[in-house]
Amino acid sequence: MDQETISTPRRLDGIILTHKHLDHSNDVNILIEAMTDGGFNKKGVLFCPEDAITEDPVVMRYARGYIERVELLKEKKTYAIKDVTFTTPVRHVHGVETYGLVFQLNASIGLSPIPDSSTICLISTGPITSS
Ligand SMILES: [Zn+2]
Repeated sequence: MDQETISTPRRLDGIILTHKHLDHSNDVNILIEAMTDGGFNKKGVLFCPEDAITEDPVVMRYARGYIERVELLKEKKTYAIKDVTFTTPVRHVHGVETYGLVFQLNASIGLSPIPDSSTICLISTGPITSS
């Protein structure tokens, strides 16, 4: 992702919401509005745990209508958007639903951003597989 994409949310194709805690979800509705030009350009995918849109939702219902689809994150699944693929090998131990994320950048480098968890996570320099 280049600097222009980072500073221009309307160029986004999707948003990953790791979990509903406010320090992680506070801007999700703002990003949806920015990505979709306030809902005038319906597009994009929101990846999120189910509890982010059900019980005590943090993604507002009207904002969900601005995006093409919501994909619910589940354990041991693979997700893709354009040329980006990521997996969710393990549910983290946390107060709300959240999963580890693994982006396989190429055959030898995987990247795992770690939101909040008491689960120990590793960054691998080899192929990452979920079992
Ligand atoms: Zn948290």
